[in-house]
Amino acid sequence: MKGRVHRNDKIIIVSAPSGAGKSTVVKHLLAAGLGLEFSISATSRKMREGEVNGREYYFISADEFRDKIKEGELLEWQEVYQGSYYGTLNSEVQRIHDNGNIPIFDLDVVGGLNVKKIYGNKALALFIKPPSIEVLEQRLRSRKSDSEENLRKRLDKAAWELEFAPRFDKVLVNGVLEVALKNAEEVVKEFLNNKGK
Ligand code: ADP
Ligand code: 5GP
Repeated sequence: MKGRVHRNDKIIIVSAPSGAGKSTVVKHLLAAGLGLEFSISATSRKMREGEVNGREYYFISADEFRDKIKEGELLEWQEVYQGSYYGTLNSEVQRIHDNGNIPIFDLDVVGGLNVKKIYGNKALALFIKPPSIEVLEQRLRSRKSDSEENLRKRLDKAAWELEFAPRFDKVLVNGVLEVALKNAEEVVKEFLNNKGK
């Protein structure tokens, strides 16, 4: 039904420090035939090469973003990196539910916990944890997407982000990839099959 409030429907939240494997896990879950659809956030950060407006993000200016905050159009938002806003539009959640799908959110740890608070037991909040900071560093280096300075920033932030793990519903350690993906799929299936919640 179009236009109804969907706070009673289930959602999946995935949060992790950068490089822990969040995108890899989300991609796997989206392809697993579970009826999930990626929630495309709005952001004021610059579009990167290869990104498409309306695919990775809805790219808008900082002024537009602030207007949307004022108008109450966002379910949640954070200034994840200085000067760059990221947030979930209420209309995006509505769009996915109207499609008959379950939204899966890729959010920073603070945003993830905020959305969990709004949805309560209708939300499954997953935290993807690297086996260690050393392994995280290796993965970030092998991805070759960051300058040394950015890599340092991401690692410094990771130590702080890891402290939030116990507040999530499930912590999935991403060691051996196949095991982590299988565990993620099982946890999500169990949550979706649990009719009582
Ligand atoms: P995030 O989205 O959390 O920043 P990615 O999914 O991009 O992380 O993963 C970071 C890098 O580590 C990528 O190059 C990815 O292919 C690799 N990676 C992810 N999970 C594993 C794993 N279990 N073992 C080895 N490499 C992995
Ligand atoms: P990116 O590398 O895409 O610039 O940075 C993304 C960071 O912002 C990741 O930690 C991602 O989870 C987070 N993020 C993306 N969209 C949202 C959102 O709508 N809200 C919040 N709180 N964080 C978001």
